[in-house]
Amino acid sequence: MAILRDLYQEVILDHNKHPRNFRVMDHCTRSKEGYNPLCGDHYTVYVRLEGGVIADVSFQGAGCAISKASASVMSQVLKGKTVEEANALFDEFRGLVTGRTDTEREAERLGRLAAFSGVSEFPARVKCASLAWHTLKAALEGGEGRDKVTTE
Ligand code: ZN
Repeated sequence: MAILRDLYQEVILDHNKHPRNFRVMDHCTRSKEGYNPLCGDHYTVYVRLEGGVIADVSFQGAGCAISKASASVMSQVLKGKTVEEANALFDEFRGLVTGRTDTEREAERLGRLAAFSGVSEFPARVKCASLAWHTLKAALEGGEGRDKVTTE
């Protein structure tokens, strides 16, 4: 498991340093702002939906390494997915960071998302890792609302 953990560490460091899809989306169909007051993580997530498919995801903002890497990986894995698939991945991710998923067994299927399984050992960081996902889910459900998502 130690080798896996190093690999996960690498994914988080890489995505924190070089976040993917880190930009404002001009022609988004949905956007939502998310805030984690415990850590100070604060992001806006942008989505472009085309006929029930997530054609593009991006995010902008600031926060700790885990929150930023999580938003970055999320933006990559969700592109091209349907809203239903995105919701299923959200549940999967939640299981992962709260320690309900047997990561070792599921690592291959989970791919890059498995990088965040280590978070389950640090309950305070679960909110950092989940912020972008909660924000995205609210964007998909809530349409164009201006209210902010908060982890508290
Ligand atoms: Zn954080």
